[in-house]
Amino acid sequence: MKSIIEPFKIKSVEPIYFTSKEERIAILKEAFYNPFLIHSNKVLIDLLTDSGTSAMSSNQWAGIMLGDESYAGSPSFFRFEATVQKLTGMPLVIPTHQGRASEKILFSIVGGKGKYFLSNTLFDTTRANIEFTGAEGIDLLCEEGKHTGIPAPFKGNVDIALLQETIREKGAENIPLCIITVTNNSGGGQPVSMANIKAVKKICTENNIPLFIDACRFAENCYFIKLREEGYASKSIPDIAAELFSYADGCTMSAKKDAFANIGGFIALHDKSLALQCRNLLVITEGFPTYGGLAGRDLEAIAIGLVEVMDEHYLHYRIRSIEYLANKLIAAGVPVMQPAGGHAVYLDAKAFLNHIPVDQYPGQALVSELYLHGGIRSVEIGSLMFGKYDEDGKLVPAHMELVRLAIPRRVYTQSHIDYVAEVIIEVFNKRSEIKGMQIIEEAQVLRHFTAKLHPVE
Ligand SMILES: *Cc1c(COP(=O)(O)O)cnc(C)c1O
Repeated sequence: MKSIIEPFKIKSVEPIYFTSKEERIAILKEAFYNPFLIHSNKVLIDLLTDSGTSAMSSNQWAGIMLGDESYAGSPSFFRFEATVQKLTGMPLVIPTHQGRASEKILFSIVGGKGKYFLSNTLFDTTRANIEFTGAEGIDLLCEEGKHTGIPAPFKGNVDIALLQETIREKGAENIPLCIITVTNNSGGGQPVSMANIKAVKKICTENNIPLFIDACRFAENCYFIKLREEGYASKSIPDIAAELFSYADGCTMSAKKDAFANIGGFIALHDKSLALQCRNLLVITEGFPTYGGLAGRDLEAIAIGLVEVMDEHYLHYRIRSIEYLANKLIAAGVPVMQPAGGHAVYLDAKAFLNHIPVDQYPGQALVSELYLHGGIRSVEIGSLMFGKYDEDGKLVPAHMELVRLAIPRRVYTQSHIDYVAEVIIEVFNKRSEIKGMQIIEEAQVLRHFTAKLHPVE
């Protein structure tokens, strides 16, 4: 078999920034061992997130020049609206400045005290916007999704039996929506099967509960369905996407993911009365309904990106390049979540640094070492992000101690990824020298963004 190549050539390049190990020692210390506090021009390979970091195509840049910045009725909006309508089959399209703005508007209307939102796994901003209204979010992920070492094709699926039980227990009248996140970002970028979405829809219909899709990575999910689910191998991605969205009553999306845009988002739906309420809120928070929180040029870039992302040459390269990194690491014995997700590789830091106890944050220790050793920026998804304290001030750790290497779309080439694998394997081979971390300062909420740490002596 021939090499799978990057399905693009490069017209414009950006420098990446080299630093010496001595410089990185000082930079990391100054940033209090927190990757969010490192300036990005001191990072060589930036795998902090795949959000808003995609490379736009020449067509998208051309679209930027075509953007019409009229306050009302811009042709850029109508191109954007038609694209989203065609993709989702949903007639009512509301632009927002990013995913969480869509969530804020939607849940302000349907949320509130005593209500429950059921999901495979709610993303952090989704959960935060639900809880901000006084409602409760409940994750009903299938069992195989909770174990890093067990390979299964659709580890993002909803546990159907648990869904039925939870609806019975909480009462359908108290559940304004069910939400399926595709792919499951907080659960390793794992996909949801079409059969599972269909089964959830059937239960929702029986209970008169609308189903929404958190569609940030719909194209990556559709490609996994094509590869792994019986009956989809010869279907096109737009056809698979059309079927996926056909089971939903609405969706929210961050265009910073699978639309290759640097900013943007939307709500799409069928329900006219709900759309009217959303637009009323939109006008006071985001902007007029034909631009939301966006410039006309952003609407153009998103409309073009939403079509480009469904190209199978791109998706083949995308999914394969994540798997390529994971396989290199697995071959060297590095503990990695399996199978690889759609947008990131997750290192199992608890197994990687099994000499560091969880209250010394092995994930954060590994994040620091990857930066020191190779200038790579990653993020801890473990007890620094999700840990809580009990009444005695003792850490209640997260389920897993992971380090996420999120791969920006169309940004890095194979040699960059080879370099990343080499750095991780070198760090793995000297893992016994790595020390744990202690927190010296932290915020009450979302502490991982601003926490200050220090290596344990
Ligand atoms: C990124 C993301 C969001 C929020 O989108 P923003 O554009 O960052 O506000 C919501 N859900 C999922 C699954 C995401 O990955």
